[in-house]
Amino acid sequence: MKTTNVKAFGTNAADAPLNEMHIDRREVTAKDIEIDILYCGVCHSDLHTARNDWGFTVYPTVPGHEIVGRVTKIGNEVTKLKVGDIAAVGCLVDSCQTCSSCEQDLEQYCLNGWVGTYGGADKHLGGHTYGGYSEKVVVDEHFVLKVPAHLDLAAVAPLLCAGITTWSPLRHWKVTQGSKVAVVGLGGLGHMAIKLAKGLGAEVTLFSRSPGKEKDALDLGADAVLISTDETQMASVMGKFDLIIDTVPYVHDINPYVATLNISGTLVLVGYLGPIDPFLNTVPMILGRKSIAGSLIGGIAETQEMLDFCGEHQIVSEIEIIKMQDINEAYERMLKSDVRYRFVIDMASLK
Ligand SMILES: [Zn+2]
Ligand SMILES: [Zn+2]
Repeated sequence: MKTTNVKAFGTNAADAPLNEMHIDRREVTAKDIEIDILYCGVCHSDLHTARNDWGFTVYPTVPGHEIVGRVTKIGNEVTKLKVGDIAAVGCLVDSCQTCSSCEQDLEQYCLNGWVGTYGGADKHLGGHTYGGYSEKVVVDEHFVLKVPAHLDLAAVAPLLCAGITTWSPLRHWKVTQGSKVAVVGLGGLGHMAIKLAKGLGAEVTLFSRSPGKEKDALDLGADAVLISTDETQMASVMGKFDLIIDTVPYVHDINPYVATLNISGTLVLVGYLGPIDPFLNTVPMILGRKSIAGSLIGGIAETQEMLDFCGEHQIVSEIEIIKMQDINEAYERMLKSDVRYRFVIDMASLK
């Protein structure tokens, strides 16, 4: 298969910094779109993958799955976009498209294994896929999104992971005007959860472990901020929330939050993968028909729905733009939560 060699930024080992490298992109096939990448958001998964924190990284790895760019080439059967259009790619670049999940537009739960934008099995070139820290990407049109006009393109990039990860549970649990939603954690995911829940008309509360986030949360649209370690404050919201979106990326006690769910309410985990510790007490769940759930990004149709909603409501991410060459420093700052709220790489710096 014919390929084009492009510049990228990635690493060959868990303990090596990211550096410039070259990777191959396939020539467009009939249904492919080639995108010249303008901006790429920096997700915590990028950092975990580069450093092999989850133990399944294949090297060399080129992270990046919050991609916005301009269409430079299309295959002869492509109908979704044309050359010159602005396009976006999120966490998925392929799935079987025939299983029951895929048939329900839930490609992120493909029963035959979805293909991640980086580190997935590349069925075209063999080996594994490379992400958005690169000049160009070539993706099947089914997995390419349209970007609404009049949004800041750099600030759109984080919608492709942080945005859809919080949008999907808001939609699945039918958040609407007047719903009472709480968000745990104010980072890349949490700040999008606040904005999107507000956009849907919900009353939104942020749970924070420590004081100091009040002003930021209120500026983002939250109606209230509660300190989760303050028992008096927690007691004031017992049984209140219809949905809690928990974005905290490490193991933490979720029992105090369960107590604040309304009857039939749900706490959905979107940031942490692993066993719950301390144990989850089922008593309040059973006595209140409460649910603990998980949710993974979102399907392609739902991602498009989220982008269109953001276009209508002028919602984008809060970002800090960096150069590609600053990525290693950005990772260090992310580990200290020193970013409001997402780094986005201006890919012109790689050219
Ligand atoms: Zn991500
Ligand atoms: Zn499938």
